[in-house]
Amino acid sequence: MALIVAKFGGTSVASPERIKNVAKRLVRIKQQGDAVVAVVSAMGKTTDELMGLSRAVTSNPPARELDRLLSTGEHVSMTLLAMAIEALGYKAMSFSGRQAGILTDGTHNKAHIVKVDNERIQEALGRGFVPVVAGFQGIDANDDVTTLGRGGSDTTAVAIAWGIGADVCEIYSDVDGVYTADPRVAPRAKKLDEISYDDMLELSSAGAGVLQSRAVEFARKWNVVIHSRSAFSDAQGTFIKEESEMEEAVITGIAHDTSEVKVTIRGVPDCTGVAAKVFSTLAATMVNVDMIIQNVSKDGITDISFTCPEGDLGRAKETLDRILPSIQAPYYEVDTDIAKVSLVGTGMKSSPGVAAKAFSTLGENSINILAISTSPIRLSVVVDLAQVSHAVQCLHTAFGLDSDSVFEETQLSAEEIAAKMNKGR
Ligand code: ADP
Ligand code: ASP
Ligand code: MG
Repeated sequence: MALIVAKFGGTSVASPERIKNVAKRLVRIKQQGDAVVAVVSAMGKTTDELMGLSRAVTSNPPARELDRLLSTGEHVSMTLLAMAIEALGYKAMSFSGRQAGILTDGTHNKAHIVKVDNERIQEALGRGFVPVVAGFQGIDANDDVTTLGRGGSDTTAVAIAWGIGADVCEIYSDVDGVYTADPRVAPRAKKLDEISYDDMLELSSAGAGVLQSRAVEFARKWNVVIHSRSAFSDAQGTFIKEESEMEEAVITGIAHDTSEVKVTIRGVPDCTGVAAKVFSTLAATMVNVDMIIQNVSKDGITDISFTCPEGDLGRAKETLDRILPSIQAPYYEVDTDIAKVSLVGTGMKSSPGVAAKAFSTLGENSINILAISTSPIRLSVVVDLAQVSHAVQCLHTAFGLDSDSVFEETQLSAEEIAAKMNKGR
């Protein structure tokens, strides 16, 4: 008998019909003789809608209240799923984050799990129930509800899998696994049978939304095997685990991220301490700076650009409005229509020439590079939002990742790609 955690994302529980299908799937697992704990996201776009409601009331919702509000989305789906399982003649019981013992720090909106106290889940399992846990939420030391960041139900699932010692954490979504790129952006992307934690973590951190990066981080730390698979078919998906038996490719995959913006400070005097002042003040106001570009100075004047999450832009602007006069820089500009495209692969460490090939491929395809950053296993470039699909596709081809078959579902436009990724912002 296996012990399985099965997490279903928003698309998989978007309607009563889909919830009933998830219930049937869980019952099938029970009928095979396995024990299962379900973890659910909110139905469809509920979380976005709740965020929209809060913004209709105030432009700056208090983080504590927002978490309480957002957590209600998963309460709806967990209770409906438990009812649907009961309707099939099996015992089920829903649990909020608090009831499931998901204890977090107090960082509202992006809390970290600090402890998992699964007593009630274990007890329900022992009595033959299917426990259905609300993803994305926990409780902090003040007994306040917290949420784990967008896509956080993945992390709930991995944490529960670790807590109860599950054999596998199955993450069901609207794709049948992890591909070499988002198949809705690069139709020739290939499904991977398995991927190492390191490669997956780098892909998720670089924007591959199929798994939340925190979930992969947690899984890597505690050695939880994740199986990313489709909620709509029985096909085997992708295993995320420590040792990949596959030959190490130079490039494992390509991720894109449209959630950042670029800010350029014009006419900055090129003298000691200016960059330190700008970036230490931005850090103090919790602006998460990603890439930094400083142009060659001319006549003692230069431009400094940086990228940061669009969600931090308000704070970045307030900070720059405050400090620009003191560094004698006349103004700054914001470009929101950008995308970051990242090549990821642990094999990159021992393979020179990746950057040269990537830059010449982009050049040959008339794609202008606005910024560059690297790590030992990642190369990221910033390009115009309108060119994001083209950039992902031509790099995918150039690095020999293309599959012979084409992903049939509709491809997304640059605007749709951005809307999907920057959901609810
Ligand atoms: P859920 O709501 O079930 O959590 P998500 O929307 O978070 O599902 O994740 C699934 C989506 O991730 C897919 O629809 C796909 O467009 C996107 N995606 C991004 N990168 C990848 C990738 N490398 N492989 C597969 N899917 C990806
Ligand atoms: N409902 C939350 C979100 O939309 C959490 C999740 O889906 O994992 O981000
Ligand atoms: Mg998700």
